[in-house]
Amino acid sequence: MTEAIQNVANPQIEVKDLNLWYGDKQALKNVNIRIPKNSVTAFIGPSGCGKSTFIRCLNRMNDLIKTCRVEGKVSVEGRDIYGPGVDVVDLRKQIGMVFQKPNPFPMSIYDNIAYGPRIHGVNKKDLGGIVEHALRSSALWDEISDRIQSPALSLSGGQQQRLCIARTMAVKPEIILFDEPCSALDPISTAKIEELIMNLKKDYTIVIVTHNMQQAARISDYTAFFLMGELIEFGKTRQIFENPAEKSTEDYITGRFG
Ligand code: ADP
Repeated sequence: MTEAIQNVANPQIEVKDLNLWYGDKQALKNVNIRIPKNSVTAFIGPSGCGKSTFIRCLNRMNDLIKTCRVEGKVSVEGRDIYGPGVDVVDLRKQIGMVFQKPNPFPMSIYDNIAYGPRIHGVNKKDLGGIVEHALRSSALWDEISDRIQSPALSLSGGQQQRLCIARTMAVKPEIILFDEPCSALDPISTAKIEELIMNLKKDYTIVIVTHNMQQAARISDYTAFFLMGELIEFGKTRQIFENPAEKSTEDYITGRFG
């Protein structure tokens, strides 16, 4: 493990000795990482190395999988998210998630975004402003402001993904987790999402799983390389790509396997 991992001062997310099993199969082995605030951190590594499993630990999405067992500690702003008294619904409001396949609800664009604030008891008169702000922040407003009552499913795939990002932002998270958000999108839609992610780090801490190394190099400040359930190396993206400390990182980023 590189020095850089210890050098992240005041991390927003801190993971200590995390181990995870699906039944008796261990999928994450002793992962330690400190993720800084207002930055983009990318998780890379070959298929099946545990990237998605790990990102799902950061807002307890793996709780939904019956066979899954987690040991270790994940702290967000100093609070153990697996500790007693944690409300998982509140936790997922604080730490939102955007998935690989855009998954708008079968309702209007407006209602998709208003859905979360409504559940959390936001006053009806404030909803319009929240919806507009979220659509502007996800760079969608100019494209669709004249049809926010249209079905969300009438949008293109790339627009649907930006809508999902807007929906996540509408409940005011601090951290947004992206699990391969562009892998179902064309290159133009991908470029828009990448630009959006880079802008969002002003206001949010971003963690992204990507199988696309160029994407990690383009948009992330920090990169974590996983291999067979282990975090092999973590550091500034430039250092990982230009001067990796571990041989297996170098082999992966130079395309020797993957
Ligand atoms: P990656 O995101 O790097 O492709 P995953 O986190 O999806 O890797 O998978 C890591 C390992 O855990 C793989 O061996 C995969 O088959 C296994 N795995 C993932 N999800 C489940 C699940 N719900 N049940 C059982 N095994 C799983």
